Amino acid sequence: MRALRLLEWRSDPVLVEVEEPRPSPGQVVVRIGGAGACHSDLHLMREFQAGQVGWGPPFTLGHENAGWVHALGPGVAELEIGQPVAVYGPWGCGTCQRCRLGIETYCENPRGAPVPGGGGGLGLDGGMAEYMLVPAARHLLPLPDGLDPVAAAPLTDAGLTPYHAIRRSWAKLSPDATAVVIGVGGLGHLGVQILKATTAARVVAVDTRPEALALARACGADVTVSPGHAAVAEIREASRGRGADLVLDFVGNDATLALGVAVARTMGDLTVVGLGGGTLPISFFSVPYEVSVQTTYWGSRPELAEVLELGARGLVRVRVTTFPLERAMDAYRQLERGGLEGRAVIVPHG
Ligand code: NAD
Ligand code: ZN
Ligand code: ZN
Repeated sequence: MRALRLLEWRSDPVLVEVEEPRPSPGQVVVRIGGAGACHSDLHLMREFQAGQVGWGPPFTLGHENAGWVHALGPGVAELEIGQPVAVYGPWGCGTCQRCRLGIETYCENPRGAPVPGGGGGLGLDGGMAEYMLVPAARHLLPLPDGLDPVAAAPLTDAGLTPYHAIRRSWAKLSPDATAVVIGVGGLGHLGVQILKATTAARVVAVDTRPEALALARACGADVTVSPGHAAVAEIREASRGRGADLVLDFVGNDATLALGVAVARTMGDLTVVGLGGGTLPISFFSVPYEVSVQTTYWGSRPELAEVLELGARGLVRVRVTTFPLERAMDAYRQLERGGLEGRAVIVPHG
């Protein structure tokens, strides 16, 4: 079968012929219906280097995946061949307390995981191929009626990651609150919709690209703002002078972190999701009182079930552009140039 593989850090992936995977006991092979192209893959191709994470190339890209059960290893009784499924991407040890709660992102026994801190498309073979090996049946969630694999794939990361970041701040997102979304790409356009679907907070979206701001409005953003010297005043005005109860930074460079802290309300949350490599100096007078700053990584398996439900009920709709496997690199190039709306999804089977 064909697979798009990253052979070394800081290189473009290549489409090569590899052997079709076969499931050992407890494992499942999924026929890929869709594999999303995440900006994190560009960070892997351009910036990551040996020793930065506990895994490395070669592996097949694609960490947001959905498809149909293709082959079951001995002992897997809870799935049926042909069943549509979404792949929960972070694969932990499965037995530590975090993994038992479905929070495999924060596995406390990473040496017991298939690769420490990774998963399919992140150290192990992912979904930019015709078939993908999933090491345990617990990582597969049946798709609810009304959701096909192409729409479901981005929900497993571009949907799940903002959902997790928003859900942990729900208590602060009362109807008089303001949430700011910085970066309205794959994650951000779903972040805006998740805020609108699960809270009554006012939503302000920020992006450098006018098309992304138009997408934000189509996704329900109440106010859109271009970064620049007027941005802080515009966001403060949109929040009736109070500032943002939640800032979701889907970029994470020095400029967006500085903007985030400048618009945060006292007691607000500044949640950094983007891998932009920026830093935020913190001192007693540099941050509004009781602002919490955190990074978040992906989300939990129960949260993925909730995101799939939002998708199946049409409360969250992924803007998808599909590409065949042989054009996957075009998808990444468009993503890199800022030429995509929403998410690119690779569809390996016609
Ligand atoms: P994307 O390229 O689809 O979207 C990024 C958006 O940010 C684009 O619309 C772009 O125009 C906008 N942007 C860029 N610079 C900006 C600036 N200075 N100010 C305002 N907007 C700006 O990317 P994506 O796939 O949505 O991923 C976003 C980030 O999140 C990436 O860094 C990715 O690696 C990271 N990510 C993190 C996690 C996690 O678990 N923490 C999960 C997935 C992705
Ligand atoms: Zn990702
Ligand atoms: Zn674990």
